[in-house]
Order: sequence, then C-alpha cells, then structure tokens
Amino acid sequence: MHRIYFDHNATTPVHPAVADAMSVSLKAEFGNPSSVHHFGQQAKAAVDRARSAVAELIGADPSEVVFTSGGTESDNFAIRGAAEACHRAGRRHLVASAIEHEAVLHTLKALAKLGSTTTTLLTVDETGIVSPDDLRAALRDDTALVSVMHANNEIGTIQPIADLATIAHEAGALFHVDAVQSAGKIPIDVKALGVDLLSISAHKFYGPKGVGALWIKRGLRMLPTSTGGKQERNRRAGTENLTGIVGMGVAAEIARGRMAVDSGRIDGLRDRLESGILQAVPRTTLNGARTPRVSNTTNISFDRVEAESLLIALDLEGIAVSTGSACSSGTLEPSHVLKAMGLPTHRTQNSIRFSLGSASTEADVDRTVAVLPGLVEKLRNLSRAPVRV
Ligand code: PLP
Repeated sequence: MHRIYFDHNATTPVHPAVADAMSVSLKAEFGNPSSVHHFGQQAKAAVDRARSAVAELIGADPSEVVFTSGGTESDNFAIRGAAEACHRAGRRHLVASAIEHEAVLHTLKALAKLGSTTTTLLTVDETGIVSPDDLRAALRDDTALVSVMHANNEIGTIQPIADLATIAHEAGALFHVDAVQSAGKIPIDVKALGVDLLSISAHKFYGPKGVGALWIKRGLRMLPTSTGGKQERNRRAGTENLTGIVGMGVAAEIARGRMAVDSGRIDGLRDRLESGILQAVPRTTLNGARTPRVSNTTNISFDRVEAESLLIALDLEGIAVSTGSACSSGTLEPSHVLKAMGLPTHRTQNSIRFSLGSASTEADVDRTVAVLPGLVEKLRNLSRAPVRV
C-alpha cells in the first residue's frame, strides 16, 4: 500500500543528505568537542559549522545559539532560565498565550505550583490570533517574561510577534518565541522580530529527533539549564550530541536553501486539499485563520464525527493525520487550542489536522479527498445507529 504522510507537524522524515552527514560524522568524528587534541578539535569544528548554519537560518550570530535536546528543552530553558534570572529583580509574573504547546504551558504550571511565579494566559480570537491589546492589559510592573509561539502546531496561524514583542519591552518584560513550527517553513530574522529568546527543533525541518536550539540574545542574563562542564559557553553543561548537532546543521542549511520553493508548492497542495475536503464532505468547517498561516497546515472539523475514529479509519486507508483532541481515561479531551479560540465542543472534539511536507504530492491530496466522503458518511451512520443490547 502506498502510504500518505500528512503529519509533518508531529515530525518530518530525515532528509537523505542529513542522514548521510550524520553517518559520516558518527564514524569519523568521535572526539569530544572539549578536548584540546586533534580529535576534539575536529569534533568542535563540526559543532561550530552546525552552529553557523543554525544561526543563518534565524538571522542570528552563532555565539547566541545554544544547542539543546529539542523544542521542549529550549522552551523550558527559556522560561525557567529567564524567570530565575528576573526573580531577584522582583519580577515574578509570566504571560503566555493559551494556545502554546504543552512544553510552555506545563512549564508555567510547574513554576506556579512551586509558588515562585504567577501566570496570566491570553485567550485568542476565533481565528487563533493573540490581540496586542489583550497583551497590553495583561502586563504588570513585575512581568518578567512573555512567551508567544510563532506558528501554532495545530492550526498553523502565525502571530504578530514583532508587535507583541514591542509591547512586552515597553513594560520592561523579556519576550520568548517558540518558533518550533515556523523554523524552516517561513523566513525568521530574530532581529526583525525583536525578541530575546527563540526556540527551534531539528526534527520539524527534516533533521534528527532529540536536538534543538535556543537562541539567546547577546548580553541577556540567563541561569544555565544544567550545571556541570563549561559547554555551550556555560549555558548548558554536558558533552554535546555531536551527531545530532551535525544533522541539525545540515537540515538548517537545506531548509534555508529550499524554503521559498518548497513553501510555494506545499501552499498550493494544502489549498487543494483544504478546498477539496470542504467541498466534498458536507458539514465541515475550517479552524483558524486562512492567513497569516504556515503553508503546510490545515485543521478541519467534521461535524458528528469523532476525530479519533476518523484518524483510525484514515490510517487503515494508509493516510496518516492527527487530531488535536486526545483520548485520556476513556473520554475525549478537546483540543486546548480550539477551546481557547472559543469554538463549541462539536468542533473542538471533531477536528483533524493535515500537515503536508516536501514529499507530499497532488496524487496524495486527490486520494485523500476521494476517500474522505465515504469514511465520514460511514462514521456518521454508525453514530446514528441504535445501540444493540
Ligand atoms: N513547541 C511546539 C510548537 C511544538 O509543536 C513542539 C512539538 O510538537 C514542541 C515545542 C516540542 O518540540 P520537541 O518535540 O523537539 O521537544
């Protein structure tokens, strides 16, 4: 069976050139980048090359890039590191949007539980956008940090980061942006965004899993994420994940080179899929703004269809998608993103995310549009059928 992968926001396949570079590095560059001898310096040069490539992807200086174990660690580092650094200055209030990834939301919750900070979560409008006025109203004299994501992982909408960062700075607060879902998909320039901290993750742009980076604006005081050796300029102790970092560097280089061409093509495919589904399947609704949005994502609610059942039915047809809602303890948890947008339950529990990628084709799109009406009708008929005892 030809399998169709429409779940690139969960993770992307590793680009063959990334896999090749990692394989070569794994075999030939085994030194510890902290060692002074030839082997160590060879490994250090590989890390430096990757750091430059990652910095170029986001318009940064290489010295500002700290390698981490991925988006989750970068988000944790940004929030915990900045919160702790600001604590001494009496700033203990944190602000984030209610549609952040759990890596941000659960970190804020954990800090609040310790009693060290308080948090304000900003709701979004029904298109999924944070209002600059809402941020202005939430800021306080003791706000340490504002964290708002660049592109949302479920609906793909892009936030007005530069405007929000300006407002946060006017109140003396730092600004962190989770750019895990935008890096490699749209151009990023940390200076133009005017932010202080920015998280990215390699496996979202055809790099390996378990490696990411946090960009820390030069001069910003941060408490280190881990203590020990002097790696990453004393900001993250521990011997570097050399192979992963090499892979991330190559993935960043490829993403920068192909972004414009790829996103134009994927945008066309996504629109074809989206309009195809909305036309072919009755009682479907698009969730989130059409623009500004990353090119690969569409999120659609199917009225009177349980999202998990549709996901499984599609998987049996060889089509991989995802749902925002999650089944926990036998009940269907609605998507926190769609809930924050104020959508009714029948849309928050019935949504499917389709996220396309560089290998997606017109044939994949057309096959998905062709099979969906039948699957949806079957599931709707089943839910209407009387219960047999
Ligand atoms: N932030 C966002 C917006 C994400 O979509 C994800 C992963 O899905 C993460 C953070 C976490 O990244 P990682 O899987 O590299 O830990």
